[in-house]
Amino acid sequence: MNTQTPIPVLDLTPQLNQLWDDINRVIQKVLRSTHFIMGPEVLAFEGEAARYLGTRHAIACNSGTDALVISLKALGIGPGDEVITTPFTFFATAEAISHLGATPVFVDVEEASMNLDPALVEQAVTSRTRAILPVHLFGRPCAMDAILDIARRRGLKVVEDCAQSFGARIRGKQTGTFGQMGAYSFFPSKNLGGCGDGGLMATDDDALAETARALRVHGSRKKYHNETVGYNSRLDELQAAILRVKLPHLEAWNAGRRQVAERYGKLLAGHEAILVPPVVEGHVFHQYTVRVRGCDRDRLQAKLKEDGVETMVYYPVPCHRLKLYQQSHAHVACPRAERMCSEVISLPIWPEMEADSQVAVAEALLAQVGRP
Ligand SMILES: *Cc1c(COP(=O)(O)O)cnc(C)c1O
Repeated sequence: MNTQTPIPVLDLTPQLNQLWDDINRVIQKVLRSTHFIMGPEVLAFEGEAARYLGTRHAIACNSGTDALVISLKALGIGPGDEVITTPFTFFATAEAISHLGATPVFVDVEEASMNLDPALVEQAVTSRTRAILPVHLFGRPCAMDAILDIARRRGLKVVEDCAQSFGARIRGKQTGTFGQMGAYSFFPSKNLGGCGDGGLMATDDDALAETARALRVHGSRKKYHNETVGYNSRLDELQAAILRVKLPHLEAWNAGRRQVAERYGKLLAGHEAILVPPVVEGHVFHQYTVRVRGCDRDRLQAKLKEDGVETMVYYPVPCHRLKLYQQSHAHVACPRAERMCSEVISLPIWPEMEADSQVAVAEALLAQVGRP
C-alpha cells in the first residue's frame, strides 16, 4: 500500500497558482462592476475566442452541451431527422441530438484514431439524414477532409463536437472551423476550463450566428421581442473574465500536454498488452487514453489505485448500449467502439505534470500488465 499522496487524473492547482493574482483581480473587477450576465467581459471574450479560432463569429453560452443543442437547433434539426455520430463519446453528444427530437445514428469508429470512421458514415446516410456530428475525442482531430467530402456530396450539415479539442488543429486550422458550427466546452476539466460551466459556438456563417445568438437568450434578437422558443444559455461575466485570463496560456498548456504524451509514449513503448495513442499533428491530449488487452480492467484500476495512481475509464459503455438507447438501437453493431469501451483506461495528464510522476504511473501500470 502506497502511503504517499495519490497521483490524481487531473491537477488544476499549478494552473491556478500560475494565474492566482490575475484571476483574483478580474473577479474583483467583475464584482465591483455589478454587471454579472452578458456584459463587456463576455463580449470581449467572444472577440478573443473568434480571433484565436479564426472564425467570423464566436458565441458564448452556458455549456458545451448547450453549444451542441443550439448549433443543431440553429441548423433546423428536429423531429424526423437523423444525425450521424460516434457511439464512443460522452453522452452529451447523443443527448443533444435526442433533445431536439432527432435520432442519433451511431456509426463505428476507426481503430487507430478512435474517431468516427468516414467510410462507415457514407454507408449510414439515408433520405432522413440531415447532419454529421463528429467528435474530436480526447483532443485528437477527426478525419475532417473525408467527412466534409461526404457532407458536400450528400447535402449534409456538419457540427463538430470540440468539447475536448479546444486548440487542436488540422494542417494549422482549428477544429470546429471545418463544419457549419463548432461546439466547445469550458467545463473546468477541459483544456480551456472555467471555474464553473461554460460553452461556445464558432461559425463563419452570419445568419447561423444571428440565430444562435437569439436562441441562447430566449429566442430574442431584441430584448422582450421574442421570436422563437429559445433557451436561457448565457455565459456569465465571472466565467468570461476568468476564461480571458486563461486563453492566452492555452497554447503553452496544450504544448505541455503533448510533451507529457510523448513521455508516456516512450515509457510505455514495446509492451504488447498496452496500446498507446500516437502523438499525431494537432492532437491536444485532453486525455491520454491507452488500451489494455488481456486483463481485468476493474482489477487493474483497483491495483493502480492501491499504488497511488488514479485513472478513469472514458467511456465504459458505447452510446448505443446505454439504457436509454439499447432498445431503439438494438440492431446497431459497432464492434470497434464496443471493444474500445472494454479496453480503454485514461492515465493522469495535465500540462505541468512532472516526469517523476509519469515514471511512477508507468511503473505501476507495467507492473500489472507489462510483458514485453
Ligand atoms: C464535456 C463534453 C461535452 C459537454 O460539455 P459540458 O460543458 O459539460 O456540457 C460534450 N461532448 C463531449 C465529447 C464532452 O467531453
